[in-house]
Amino acid sequence: MSLTDIRARIAAAEAAAQRPSGSVQLIAVSKEQPEDRVLPVLDAGHRLFGENRVQEAAGKWPGWRDRFGDVAVHLLGPLQSNKARQAMELFQAIHSLDRPKLAQSFARLAQELGHCPDLFVQVNTGAEPQKAGVLPDDADRFIKDARALDLPIVGVMCIPPVDEDPAAHFAQLADIGARNGLESLSMGMSDDFEIAIAQGATHVRVGSAIFGARR
Ligand SMILES: *Cc1c(COP(=O)(O)O)cnc(C)c1O
Repeated sequence: MSLTDIRARIAAAEAAAQRPSGSVQLIAVSKEQPEDRVLPVLDAGHRLFGENRVQEAAGKWPGWRDRFGDVAVHLLGPLQSNKARQAMELFQAIHSLDRPKLAQSFARLAQELGHCPDLFVQVNTGAEPQKAGVLPDDADRFIKDARALDLPIVGVMCIPPVDEDPAAHFAQLADIGARNGLESLSMGMSDDFEIAIAQGATHVRVGSAIFGARR
């Protein structure tokens, strides 16, 4: 199974970067994948998954959690404020905090629900107009404001532009994390997770390399 290969490649990349074994968490991105591809990965004991859409995740994970026990599922895709409550009840972490309004919704709901998932601030490192995320120049201020709302900000996340060398974007994200005292770096996908690990990724988000191309 590809899961075994990806785990081996992560271990090799950790070693090459002289990082401790186990310092990188593998988020298996199961969005849009059919059940017959996801179940073998659950059967193999993997317990950390990523999804892009609240609705899709809500249709799959409650049932799979009944069958397989505790599974952490992280939301990676954009989140509308009106789905914030459902997202907070469904996911253990959200990687797409990218605007003040969403931060305010989380803060209000955290009071009400008495808990809040771990939050990553998404940074639009390429300043691409069509892409979500706070601009790099705004990141420090945004993180400071989110912390002032008592939100559990654990890290930063980016998706580099498709046509650029991702290493520079990963390095930029690592710098933003470091200067804000954030330990978690969500960066690296199927095509570039080893490059991300060399730059300090703590969470790699790998979908098609584990499950195959999305239909
Ligand atoms: C789909 C997606 C991934 C996984 O992409 P692959 O190229 O299949 O590994 C990772 N992160 C985010 C935010 C995604 O939307």
